[in-house]
Amino acid sequence: MRRFALYSIIALNPVDSLRYNMKLVGVRNLKMTSTILPPQNIPEVQYSTLNGKALRNNVIPTLAEAKAVIPKECFVKNTALSLSYALLDLVATASCFFLGYKYILPIGFSAASLLAWIPYSIVTGTVAISMWVTAHECGHGAFSTNKKLQDFVGYVFHTFLLVPYFSWQRSHNIHHANTNHVVDGETHVPIVNSSSLKTKVLQKIFGSKIGNFIWGSSQIFLHLIFGWPAYLLTGKTGGYSRGVTNHFIPFPLTKPNNPAKELFGGVNQKIKVLASDVGIAGMLGGLYLLSKTIGLLPLLALYGGPLIVVNSWLVLYTWLQHTQTDIPHVDADEFSFIKGAFLTVDRPYEKILGGIVNFLHHDIGTTHGKWEHAAAYR
Ligand SMILES: [Zn+2]
Repeated sequence: MRRFALYSIIALNPVDSLRYNMKLVGVRNLKMTSTILPPQNIPEVQYSTLNGKALRNNVIPTLAEAKAVIPKECFVKNTALSLSYALLDLVATASCFFLGYKYILPIGFSAASLLAWIPYSIVTGTVAISMWVTAHECGHGAFSTNKKLQDFVGYVFHTFLLVPYFSWQRSHNIHHANTNHVVDGETHVPIVNSSSLKTKVLQKIFGSKIGNFIWGSSQIFLHLIFGWPAYLLTGKTGGYSRGVTNHFIPFPLTKPNNPAKELFGGVNQKIKVLASDVGIAGMLGGLYLLSKTIGLLPLLALYGGPLIVVNSWLVLYTWLQHTQTDIPHVDADEFSFIKGAFLTVDRPYEKILGGIVNFLHHDIGTTHGKWEHAAAYR
């Protein structure tokens, strides 16, 4: 049996201090047994507060066993409730944009105006990701039994945030089906090696502490600011199997290492990529026309700044959900769907600002990963 421990940069940076919890939503009553653990035999693993628990040979409940302890109503979709949340997302986000246009844009652009523009971007982006999450639920089919309505809401919300709805729906379903699979995984798949040359060079130049800090900080910056576009455009952090991919192009950019695992294999998937592109082209066209009306800089400040914050949120919580020093990523010998799902880490943040952020984000820190097809908002 081979086991790939994850030597992540995340252990070296401040994110590691975020509250960490591997509670198993809804399945805490299930018994999980484990055999004698091997982590002492794995050198260099830096334990998290989980203390190597996920590295044990845990006996994990079957999908049926786990599902059996989840209240049945969690799987009943409530279209009216979902729509009410979508409306809330829309009104809250539109209000932020309106307030920015009405009260911050007149301030103009100077070094001092950053004191207004930066908080505006943070607040608006933090609110607007509610639309992102709702569209994500649509992509999972968790929003409604009315599929046309569901795809309409998802398509509009994601397109507004420049996410190609059907393309990402496809790659995201592959992600869930192969969570923590070190070869077939899609997004947040670690590079399998036990040491990084770059960290070693930094450690040599700056010493261990400062070198690690520089490496960790630069990775946080790169992931949060460029991680999402890099994934959409080149499949960055995607699995080895699919090669270099682009969510806007129906064909892989390089021959997939496993042709059977092509990201958009089959005519139907390729058509869906193009259907997603139509929306994105329309949105970009709309933004271009808007820039002609209000100016490029105001557009970048009003829309571009919040979009960076939206993308940063997205990368931050998914990165944390799939990354921890002693959470293993496994190969085909050891992989199963339910195991991958249980290796997803809950990242609750319901205490930030009295729970308002978590509420707006539809509890995505803890509801994602295990029961992605359960009805939204239950
Ligand atoms: Zn999902």
